Amino acid sequence: MTAAHATYLRFENVGLVYPDGTAALSEVTFDVPGGQFCVVLGPSGSGKSTLLRTVNGLSAPTDGRVTIGGTPVDRASVRRLRPAIGMIHQHFGLVARASVAHNVIAGAVATLPFWRALMGVYPRALTDKACRLLAAVGLQPEHLVRRVGALSGGQQQRVGIARALMQDPTLILADEPAASLDPGVARDILRLIRREAATRGVTVLCTLHQVELAREFADRIVALQLGRVAFDGPPARFDRAAVERIYGSGATAASDLEPAYPALRMSGS
Ligand code: ADP
Repeated sequence: MTAAHATYLRFENVGLVYPDGTAALSEVTFDVPGGQFCVVLGPSGSGKSTLLRTVNGLSAPTDGRVTIGGTPVDRASVRRLRPAIGMIHQHFGLVARASVAHNVIAGAVATLPFWRALMGVYPRALTDKACRLLAAVGLQPEHLVRRVGALSGGQQQRVGIARALMQDPTLILADEPAASLDPGVARDILRLIRREAATRGVTVLCTLHQVELAREFADRIVALQLGRVAFDGPPARFDRAAVERIYGSGATAASDLEPAYPALRMSGS
């Protein structure tokens, strides 16, 4: 990352039409400054995952471009860029039958000689780093040797966060990291991602579908509707009108608004 707050990630007029003709993204333009926790919000099918995939090169825009630290993401650059991008997945993306230690260290495998990765022979510095990261995400040393599949969902996502941090990313892409978890645990996990990213100055692009969580954790919300940016601003400006524009005027929007907008509730709207 360059100077703090300079643009780190940029979407320039990004469009993506899938081969079957589905227009998943249209004219998406926004900049994410370094160190920002930027939430991409929107209902299912609005293009959030597709947008994330254009950043790590898994989907190529059919229009416009994405740049990371000034480098356009394309076939030529993606291998060089990927080690700087940590991924956190909705379903954790871990090897359930392998140990916690193995899963976390796998996050740094790109930095290891092939034979070490293949044999599972890791330098001491990496195992020490894995231990430090597990402590940072709230797991105990005894978790190291446990099978990931034996852990709770919240614990598995903590392992997923440690694994993403293992490669010292400058950017974290979190794809609905809280969607498989109970509400209380979901908050703990988002708080943890936010805290660990802020400590390290890591930029975060995090997709969410819950307005309430976006309001609580985002520095900035970019909301998509049918693949277009329908809102871009701080959570405080994500008001009733913005919610209704994106989600319609259904019950979800109303209940999401209540805690944050008591005045609206009192006025009977
Ligand atoms: P979200 O993550 O917000 O649920 P997606 O990015 O998954 O949205 O999907 C955006 C749109 O693109 C939807 O209409 C979805 O059905 C469509 N889509 C997603 N993946 C593909 C694909 N591989 N081929 C065709 N259409 C797709």
